[in-house]
Amino acid sequence: MYHILSCEQFSRAELEELFNLTDEIRNNLPAYRTALAGKLVATIFYEPSTRTRLSFEAAVQRLGGCIVSTENAKEMSSVIKGESLPDTIRVIAGYCDAIILRHPDVNSAREAAAVSAVPIINGGSGSGEHPTQALLDVYTIHKHKGAIDGLTVGIMGDLLFGRTVHSLVKLLALYENITVYGLSHDVLSLPEEYVSYLEKRGGRYIPCRSFWEMPQDIDVLYHTRTQTERFQNSDLQVEEFVVDRQVMSYFSPDTILLHPLPRRHEISAEVDADKRALYFQQSHNGMYVRMGLLYNILGKGAEK
Ligand code: ASP
Repeated sequence: MYHILSCEQFSRAELEELFNLTDEIRNNLPAYRTALAGKLVATIFYEPSTRTRLSFEAAVQRLGGCIVSTENAKEMSSVIKGESLPDTIRVIAGYCDAIILRHPDVNSAREAAAVSAVPIINGGSGSGEHPTQALLDVYTIHKHKGAIDGLTVGIMGDLLFGRTVHSLVKLLALYENITVYGLSHDVLSLPEEYVSYLEKRGGRYIPCRSFWEMPQDIDVLYHTRTQTERFQNSDLQVEEFVVDRQVMSYFSPDTILLHPLPRRHEISAEVDADKRALYFQQSHNGMYVRMGLLYNILGKGAEK
């Protein structure tokens, strides 16, 4: 059984295979219309979601599978009656063929996988990881840059609680000669475990205090939202690094700008028209990458 729990589980070869499969499905959608016929997938979300849940649900249905869903599991499931996550998972695993889970606990996906009779896909585990987001991020980078080896990537915003950057750093670490620049407020800097994860695998990490400390010809800028919902001290005020037209004019015509969304004011709307702003394409790509994953886990790909 193939769970998706953390970006630590992937090899370069697996990513390449997934991206090829994603393109194959994307370019031949009619041929995959019934690939998941007879399969039922549960989406169990204890935290809000727009893109992850809906793109997974769209992906399942575009492949001919069916969905059962609870989008507000914290209030709409038996958790409110005191049921534990493992008990909930044991029960739901008896109804379906795979479970996509989003939960506030960092260890939730592993806990669920330990008791589940069907594959668990981590759709975001607290401030820990968001592996399927990183897969679509790297797919998008790969599509636009052609290769990942040797790239310079600026991660910005909330590097402490931002699970998407944690997963992204782990995937980038699979490639050669990667330099990651980290721009964040001091209290939201990238935890040491991710810095050392990257460095142990040959990557470099360079913390920055302003956009101007990053090279102008940086390949990728990856901005993120401040995850205020995870702040213990709700009075904490943090400086936002806002990408606007002026900031974009500093960077090269080949620099691409990504964001997992939702954005608030960290990217001005005026930047949307810039050809380098790819965040809406990035989220669109997510549906196809998730189709590829589901095909591998539940479709013909699972029989290989
Ligand atoms: N949608 C992403 C996540 O679930 C990013 C965010 O919420 O800021 O982690």
